[in-house]
Amino acid sequence: MTVEAKKETLGFQTEVKHLLHLMIHSLYSNKEIFLRELISNGSDAVDKLRFEALSNESLYEGSSDLNIRIAFDKDDRTVTISDTGIGMTREEVQDHIGTIAKSGTKQFFEKLTGDAAKDSELIGQFGVGFYSSFIVADKVTLTTRKAGTTEAVRWESAGEGDYTLESVEKESRGTEVVLHLKEGEDEFLDSYRLRSIITKFSDHISLPIIMDKEIPAETDEEGKETSAATIEDETVNSASALWTKSKEDISDEDYNEFYKHVGHDFQDPLTHVHSKVEGSNEYTLLLYVPARAPFDMWDREAKHGVKLYIRKVFITDDAEQLMPRYLRFVRGVIDADSLPLNVSREILQKSKQISTIKAGAVKKVLGLLKSMSKDADIYEKFWAEFGNVIKEGVIEDSKNKEAIAKLLRFSSTHTDQEKQDISLENYVERMNEGQEKIYYVTADSFSAAKNSPHLEVFRKKGIEVILMADRVDEWLISHLTEFDGKQLQSVAKGELDLDKLDTEEEKKEKEESSKDFEAILKQMKAVLGDKVSDVRVTNRLTDSPACLVTGDHDMSLNMERIMKEAGQPMNMMGMGGTKPTFEINPIHALVTSIKNEQDDDRFADITNILFDQAILSEGGQLDDPVAFVHKLNGLLEELLK
Ligand code: ADP
Repeated sequence: MTVEAKKETLGFQTEVKHLLHLMIHSLYSNKEIFLRELISNGSDAVDKLRFEALSNESLYEGSSDLNIRIAFDKDDRTVTISDTGIGMTREEVQDHIGTIAKSGTKQFFEKLTGDAAKDSELIGQFGVGFYSSFIVADKVTLTTRKAGTTEAVRWESAGEGDYTLESVEKESRGTEVVLHLKEGEDEFLDSYRLRSIITKFSDHISLPIIMDKEIPAETDEEGKETSAATIEDETVNSASALWTKSKEDISDEDYNEFYKHVGHDFQDPLTHVHSKVEGSNEYTLLLYVPARAPFDMWDREAKHGVKLYIRKVFITDDAEQLMPRYLRFVRGVIDADSLPLNVSREILQKSKQISTIKAGAVKKVLGLLKSMSKDADIYEKFWAEFGNVIKEGVIEDSKNKEAIAKLLRFSSTHTDQEKQDISLENYVERMNEGQEKIYYVTADSFSAAKNSPHLEVFRKKGIEVILMADRVDEWLISHLTEFDGKQLQSVAKGELDLDKLDTEEEKKEKEESSKDFEAILKQMKAVLGDKVSDVRVTNRLTDSPACLVTGDHDMSLNMERIMKEAGQPMNMMGMGGTKPTFEINPIHALVTSIKNEQDDDRFADITNILFDQAILSEGGQLDDPVAFVHKLNGLLEELLK
């Protein structure tokens, strides 16, 4: 087959077209980022090659020159970025350039609004990458040859509907990207401009970035040329791995730019930690907390963001072993000094040194978050983005549970605001005299939690209750049973021992009102049958007539709803549907009147209505809403007769 015969035209995935269009419009004011993105890709490709070559030196093909070269041509109006990295096969080009392989892409695009400012932020979360070339170019030609193979492939596109692929010759391994600049983008055909972008964005990547430097002809005193003008290679960036430098020599800007490079992000990070750990297992870490959650944070398959290096040689970014899942948003570099370079990924997984490094790195990150939490404004931003991920830590990392618990922030009845800014330490400091437990309520929305009837007595007594409405909270709370020696207690579970906090007067009132309820409780239990495990007089309510309570060790009703929605068959899980206890408020007018109800049918109707109301006020759903409406209307009709 001839080379030409292999040229084919392929259509972009719909999402790619959409992304390109948006990117060009929303990122235009940041247009020079294309250079950082292409340099980052080149540097990743070189890192991959260096690692593969550790076990297969032939991949170097006789040249272990590892660098990125930037050139421009004023006549052709092109800027060329080439690397001597791993390259791509035809299949890889097709899979990576022209397709977006990230899952969740479709949902991501549904979030876009068409408003350039908002969308550019979202695109930042998505990662701009190779496609940012089209901000400045109206045609991009990528030619690549995978190390260790002979066939090269050329990809070309005008960034509209399609691209072409053809087999070509390429002398050496690696990738070359030629940007054919759009009209009006000639500013990039300038050595000074390109150099200043490179030093701004990519100064501290460890790879040399080379540009041509013109050495003018030398002349003697009479102006006669003694040597012709020549062109030399010049390394434009400082090409030192940033993390190996000492902190004093690194500016905030250096840290931020390096983050954008390793994190493939275009916003500054919130904060970072840079530290060298001495000892027999030496390592350096430079880890960042991004300002925004990546769009695929909830995708369990999404890549982790910490890269492992061994003495400046990149080893892997597939290092789940370096950060636990609940810190999956952390980006950066860990460089281990004392691991052997020829370590395989399999060995890494079992390495004791790696587990020690991981444990140390986790401690550093938790320490970083702790110090960040002292600045309420920054921590608020952090918590809004990553709070729900941190909560997973309580479940996942029992060793650091205490430290993680201190990082948690909640809403509570102290402010009744949805904003989560109350720590358990704040709560404990405010606990009432005689109060032994930390109280919380869970519901499926903030407003259901805030308005829960279970809070009535707590509000009356001025006892703060933590309001939880995030899905992960039910799991969180099942693993966080204690904080600072104090038990966490659901206000909707078990019998509340608030009696200690009652005044004498309240105690007396309760005793009085609970009298004579024996018969009613029995009668109600008979009406409700197996819907309840018991019916009793409550000490939780002041304004509502009744509520539902589960046993101390039962699943909460909210949790049961979550499981049901998730399609978990309760009985098969061996947990069985939780049967709640129905509690009635002895001082509520409805309840005191029902005591005198003579008509059994009416008694049953009212009992059922009270029961259904209790479900509704918890944010639950009725099994038979029509029956509820029917009964209620029956009573209303009678009332209006
Ligand atoms: P990202 O870099 O965020 O993954 P890109 O769209 O920039 O997204 O690149 C997609 C993929 O294409 C990369 O993950 C890599 O596998 C491949 N790729 C891009 N540029 C190069 C390059 N210069 N050399 C080798 N592979 C590359």
